Amino acid sequence: MARYTGAVCRLCRREGTKLFLKGDRCFTEKCGVERRAYPPGQHGQGRGRTSDYGLQLREKQKVKRMYGVAESQFRGTMDDASHMRGRAGENLLVLLERRLDNVVFRLGFATSRAEARQLVRHGHFQVNGRKTNVPSFRVKPGMRVTLCVGSREIARITEALEALERRSLPGWLELDKEAFTGTVKAMPTREDITMPIQEQLIVELYSR
Ligand code: SF4
Repeated sequence: MARYTGAVCRLCRREGTKLFLKGDRCFTEKCGVERRAYPPGQHGQGRGRTSDYGLQLREKQKVKRMYGVAESQFRGTMDDASHMRGRAGENLLVLLERRLDNVVFRLGFATSRAEARQLVRHGHFQVNGRKTNVPSFRVKPGMRVTLCVGSREIARITEALEALERRSLPGWLELDKEAFTGTVKAMPTREDITMPIQEQLIVELYSR
């Protein structure tokens, strides 16, 4: 499936919330949501009520766009989540958090998930000492994610690490900046995902 290559701030404005797709810019007053807090397009400010289906669709699109996942992969993750114990919606968010590209972003090696995805794809990371270039790889507790030795001088990575203070490191991850290594201490939980998400709406959408 073709990847969305248009203006990403439109996606945030469509969902009515910051999805943090643009790295540093998201933390400045230049953020599209801050400047124009209404949906994009000619009729963006004139849209009225939304149906139940519309609300469910928007919630799914929001989470899908936030994690940068294609529809087929998102649906596959939802299938996996519904076959696991516990609540399907929470399982879905936990599975998305465990993606290697998300872990690289959360550890601060990249300023956005899209950048993290590209870094993983280009083979800059090892998991438990083995080069891994699959963004959807699911990490487990005890795994170590390390920036390859030859990639430690890349300016955009070192700058991203310096900017990590703007975001807090989630409790389920630990970072050793000197060793360029992150460790997965535990499985992420629903409480670790602080974005405003109503995952039950996504479950309802897929059970139609
Ligand atoms: Fe979204 Fe970031 Fe653009 Fe703001 S700057 S609208 S958070 S992508």
